[in-house]
Amino acid sequence: MKQRNILVVEDEPDIADLIALHLRDEGFAVTVARDGHEGMRHAFAREWDLVLLDIRLPGPDGLSICRALRTEKNYVPILMLTSKSSELDRVLGLELGADDYLVKPFSIGELLARIKALFRRIDAMTRKHQPEDTSVCVGALQINSSSREVRIDQASVDLTAREFDLLLHFAKHPGRVFNRAQLLDSVWGFGHEGYEHTVNSHINRLRGKIEPDCNQPRYIVTVWGVGYKLETPVVAAANV
Ligand code: CA
Repeated sequence: MKQRNILVVEDEPDIADLIALHLRDEGFAVTVARDGHEGMRHAFAREWDLVLLDIRLPGPDGLSICRALRTEKNYVPILMLTSKSSELDRVLGLELGADDYLVKPFSIGELLARIKALFRRIDAMTRKHQPEDTSVCVGALQINSSSREVRIDQASVDLTAREFDLLLHFAKHPGRVFNRAQLLDSVWGFGHEGYEHTVNSHINRLRGKIEPDCNQPRYIVTVWGVGYKLETPVVAAANV
């Protein structure tokens, strides 16, 4: 398998070096940016397989870099590192389109487990869907799992990797209701117990992108007291 390239944007030298050391040990190619300006420059300089973004940085902070990437429709997986456990930092990071986050202090083992889980999920999705041309239609919503494209009335919708995986998970089990713990388990995978609010913020963001009226969702509907489901597809193409 081709070597994965990871950008680490972290201003605390001890943490940056420790992360880089362990990631290189795992066979990843690592570039370290030690402030926000350097981070911003590197983030756009090439394609990355993953960006680890510390939130508090000299110069542009991690949130600005995340926002800048997403504004440019760059959907590289982003894992935010935050030193504040406050809800605001967490939710802000996710609202801006980060895929995951860890609160400092975290163990290297935990970080590696998260990164591996993220890559495993991406690989599994790629393997599972590459050879087949699979698409699901729910009303005007069209989800293509091989090209990872989502269209509404033929207009393309930009989703982050995690938003797409969440939508795809619903699409693969049409009409089935999932609670937040089940969604965390299936879409986020290992090590996310207790992060149920993450599901809510992703559902809200996804609805903002695909629903004509978020107050009355037509596609991803809330089943009160239970969870969420995707309305039953009108047409399901082959191989789904
Ligand atoms: Ca910092």
